[in-house]
Amino acid sequence: MPKHVYLQTYGCQMNERDSEEVLGMLVAQGYTPVACEDDADLILLNTCSVRAHAEERAFGKMAALQRLKQARPGVVLGILGCMAKAQREEVFRRLPQVDLVAGPAEIYDLPDLLAQVAQARQGGTGVRLLAVDRPVRPLDRKPPGDWRRDRVTAFVTIMEGCDKKCAYCIVPTTRGQEVSRALPEILDEVQLLARAGYRQVTLLGQNVNSYGKRFPDGGGYRGPAGRRRLLEEADGSDRLIDFPALLRQLDAKTAIERLRFTTSHPFDAHEELFRAMADCRTVCEYLHLPVQSGSDRVLRAMRRGYTVEAYRVKVARLRELVPDIALSTDVIVGFPGESEADFEATCALMEEVAYDSAFLFKYSPRPGTEAAGWLDDVARPVKERRHQVLLALQAGISRRKLERWLGREVEVLVEERNRRGQLAGHTRQNVNAVCAGPDAAIGELIGVHVERVTPTTLIGRLIA
Ligand code: SAM
Ligand code: SF4
Repeated sequence: MPKHVYLQTYGCQMNERDSEEVLGMLVAQGYTPVACEDDADLILLNTCSVRAHAEERAFGKMAALQRLKQARPGVVLGILGCMAKAQREEVFRRLPQVDLVAGPAEIYDLPDLLAQVAQARQGGTGVRLLAVDRPVRPLDRKPPGDWRRDRVTAFVTIMEGCDKKCAYCIVPTTRGQEVSRALPEILDEVQLLARAGYRQVTLLGQNVNSYGKRFPDGGGYRGPAGRRRLLEEADGSDRLIDFPALLRQLDAKTAIERLRFTTSHPFDAHEELFRAMADCRTVCEYLHLPVQSGSDRVLRAMRRGYTVEAYRVKVARLRELVPDIALSTDVIVGFPGESEADFEATCALMEEVAYDSAFLFKYSPRPGTEAAGWLDDVARPVKERRHQVLLALQAGISRRKLERWLGREVEVLVEERNRRGQLAGHTRQNVNAVCAGPDAAIGELIGVHVERVTPTTLIGRLIA
């Protein structure tokens, strides 16, 4: 019997990549992905716990799916991802129709869990399964099967987990301790993708800048003495396997044409990274460098480990080395204790740095984090107002930043034909760009002369 799976993903790019891995495993087992839950025998939600809002949406969706299951009892329902880790028992208790629950470190257990559910049903009994609670994803148990959403750009995970302890953040709890994938594995995966026709790879990790700190076998630059991993360079010298070294290796040894990466914690973003970005042709001129706040007082409370001045110095050095760099950031408004003056300092920093784009969030306490124990003392309407002020401020800045491209020629990787029939893709700086052109340009790098801008997109003419 053909088996159909519907998988909905919430949250970040790490989750999107996890969902691709899950579909890869399931396709290898004979499942076909479908776009509508009504056509599926297996329905999975890959959830996010970073903000309360994402969790509420997933609970709401699952409640609706439970009703669907009452009409079609044969359907298997599963909750994956961060919520399945952070709220394991709660999910099980609140959603009695859910058959299985597996966190981010347990996605490779999914085929086993599904087999157990199928066996129990054949035996005429029901079973509800909570995956074994693993502290970190066993990268060496990665099962076969690969499935990717598109054929031009791909995500490649280079590390799991996060060792930082930002006071507001649930990620270290849900994704566990940091572990990096071995360098040869990453080189092989990127080279395979390049050979298969992919043009761009985005390297993923919660803090890619600490790549190489710890490998699954315990080695790494913070590993036990004597287990530091060194790369032998062509000139006979040795250097640590760290993130800048990984970028240089990928640039030199694979045929991929564009490299991006996310996320960079400012504490671990150094001169060596900026130099690698400047030197490597394939590394795009774009950096997501989440600042979170423009007030030292708030940054200290958040346990971010840098001051506004240290951040400024890094941005200035990066701009010296990579003059056409585009910058984006994350900001949280309404963190406990954030005063009007703190908020104004954030607005001033946003003006000063002039980010090309920004993701702006209202603080929500996350159970189990350090800040959840503090009074959430910025009233909801105040958070809302600060959020709106910052959105408006950034909209003006983003527009100004887009206008700098007017009249210039940009390189665009064409990813698709959009609903208006235009070729659509991104510039090296990650800006949306569209133009008229032939189907043959899809998947290609083209030159575009920018003639107009909308609030979000460059509109141009294909350069023959
Ligand atoms: N690892 C990345 C970093 O260090 O910037 C990002 C991780 S997190 C998945 C993405 C963003 O969500 C964060 O940069 C932060 O701005 C936001 N975020 C995390 N916890 C939050 C919370 N409790 N309330 C509001 N926003 C939050
Ligand atoms: Fe969360 Fe901080 Fe780790 Fe980013 S670096 S995932 S914000 S704890």
